[in-house]
Amino acid sequence: MLSIIIPLLNEAGNLELLHQKLTDTLAALGRPYEIIFINDGSVDQSPEILKGLFERDPHVVVIHFRQNFGKTAALTAGFRHSRGDAIVTMDADLQDDPAEIPAMVAKLETGFDLVAAWRHNRQDPIDKTWPSRVFNWGVATFSGLRLHDFNCGFKIYRRAVTEQIRLYSDFHRFTPVLAAGKGFKITELPVQHHPRHTGKSKYGTSRALKGLLDFITVLFLTTFLQHPLRLFGSSGIAIFGAGTLIELYLTGLWLAREVGGVAGIPPIGPRPLFLVGILALILGIQLVSIGLLGEMIRYFTFQPEQEYTIRSVLTHQK
Ligand code: UDP
Ligand code: MG
Repeated sequence: MLSIIIPLLNEAGNLELLHQKLTDTLAALGRPYEIIFINDGSVDQSPEILKGLFERDPHVVVIHFRQNFGKTAALTAGFRHSRGDAIVTMDADLQDDPAEIPAMVAKLETGFDLVAAWRHNRQDPIDKTWPSRVFNWGVATFSGLRLHDFNCGFKIYRRAVTEQIRLYSDFHRFTPVLAAGKGFKITELPVQHHPRHTGKSKYGTSRALKGLLDFITVLFLTTFLQHPLRLFGSSGIAIFGAGTLIELYLTGLWLAREVGGVAGIPPIGPRPLFLVGILALILGIQLVSIGLLGEMIRYFTFQPEQEYTIRSVLTHQK
């Protein structure tokens, strides 16, 4: 079974046509399917239109949020309500073409857990495409996951992926990174991209900073979360060590001057190096302490099933 998940905020002008195109494609595909619309606090005619679609089409499921909670929350709600073995997410504005779904399904079935659409002929204004290029380059470089297009809403997941990844904030941009961190196999598929059918984009350039902060969190969660002390502790010990060496050196100078009476050595108190050494000592201790706090949080929030993902089990047990 295939679940199509569509988060939407004020997309009244797009829903009828989207539903029509989806129905054409999915009926031809010949598999059981459901279309889950998540109304993320729309204040236009979207709720009425969704009601009409629900009454006409038994494949349609509608989830109304009480207010706008954001696209990530809408996707999570969709994942949790879905029943499909494969789950497609797409935007409601017809920028993603439902006609691509069969190709996405076929690609998934060649042995992948997540297929991300790649908008190779992206139809968006330049103030969107350029920040997006920088973003994709940065995420690919630092995550080591070689995709061209992370932020596209159009993706297909195996159920195991949507059950394993935890999304909050604006993590919808990083589902491939989070899935890769759990060992899932990920690939991309070039798709046609269209200009928005009607309505306005919900995301401006302000998302750049949010995206960066979210990415730092995601990198942390997928790499060093296992051992916070290894991240903070190693730099902490290095900096503390440098501080110790500096202060030992200055102590030597002080002894030579004050006790040994060696001439020509200036007093150490006014030297910038003196302060640098003290700063390094304090910073080093702080970093190690932060690492230990991280370990403590991890210890007390530890959940065994979050530590690994199983592909399959061979067993003779009944
Ligand atoms: N969306 C949502 N909640 C939000 C913002 C956006 O459900 O708070 C939906 C929106 O209706 C659309 C999809 O997320 O279906 C992508 O939004 P948009 O097309 O505005 O993003 P863009 O394509 O301009 O990056
Ligand atoms: Mg859009």
